[in-house]
Amino acid sequence: MLRGATKKKSRPLHSGLDAVGQPRYGMRVIDAELWANQSASPVMLAFVAFLGALWGSFANVCIYRMPPTDENPKGLSVVQPGSHCSHCKHPVRWYDNVPMLSYLWLKGKCRDCGTSFSPRYLLVEAAVAMLFVAVYYYVVAIAYTDTAPTEQLIRSGVLAAFCWLMVVIAFIDLDHRLILNKITYPAIPIMYGLGLLLPGATWKTGLIGIVVGYGLVRAIADLFWLVTRREGMGYGDGKLLAIVGALFGWQGVLVGLFLGSLVGTTLLIPILIAGRIRAACQPNDKTDEDNSTEPDSVEDCNESEEEDIPNWRRVELPFGPFIAIAAVLFIFIEARLRLHFFFLW
Ligand SMILES: [Zn+2]
Repeated sequence: MLRGATKKKSRPLHSGLDAVGQPRYGMRVIDAELWANQSASPVMLAFVAFLGALWGSFANVCIYRMPPTDENPKGLSVVQPGSHCSHCKHPVRWYDNVPMLSYLWLKGKCRDCGTSFSPRYLLVEAAVAMLFVAVYYYVVAIAYTDTAPTEQLIRSGVLAAFCWLMVVIAFIDLDHRLILNKITYPAIPIMYGLGLLLPGATWKTGLIGIVVGYGLVRAIADLFWLVTRREGMGYGDGKLLAIVGALFGWQGVLVGLFLGSLVGTTLLIPILIAGRIRAACQPNDKTDEDNSTEPDSVEDCNESEEEDIPNWRRVELPFGPFIAIAAVLFIFIEARLRLHFFFLW
């Protein structure tokens, strides 16, 4: 018998749902049978995708405005002013502000001055839309089909919020090598709170997850610093893992850390190889320039004996995006992991 699968029967008092997963104090708001037939219909999925694209649009705003810059050390407001062209400052018309679609019909250009917008706007909107659909479909049609409609909706909402957060954090880290405290500090309690809404959650899970997430990275980072006197992981990665732990417990943290490293290494090797090919093709005067700032960075270019040893020390990749990818993957593999590693839960 699979213990992991049968364990989550107990429903805590604070979940706000009664024994069949409907909200307490009141009538049933969703007809279960109708829901079972319609929840994964194309219309519903399209609606979820539309919601995701809207949130993706807001993710873009956060990614571009929240990080500190030279002119705005505290970042910009995500509320004001409204969307505008960064080149000519013209506000975007309401009918040009439809997520994804307007990018396509304007062919990625400003209607007023013709400046091209980065295709990343489209990418982020599409990514959030797809994640919303994936999470929703996974919950209502694959993994939690036997749970009540309200429960499925709450779970999809919480997981979608988590995915949205991971996208924002990953792209800011990719751009700036920063995981912003002004995102992580509120996100940790918010995710902890949202985690408590999930049926079967206990107050301990998230707290342990937060402590393990931050503590583990802090321990690794401090040890790395003691041994090598160089910075490896940042504390920001720890705060990111604390968010993961707040929702998924320490199991989520472990998966985030190890699967994240795995994803990171698999992506790192091609990047390293590509980087070495590029470095080998570059003329020598270019490498001299680098030499002035980083003395030991390019010596392997000139010494053929060390040619085959990749310069791991030189590579600095943000770890946050890999943790984020792993954490999102965790959503879809958690049930399976629970079956195989039930003794951990
Ligand atoms: Zn413009």
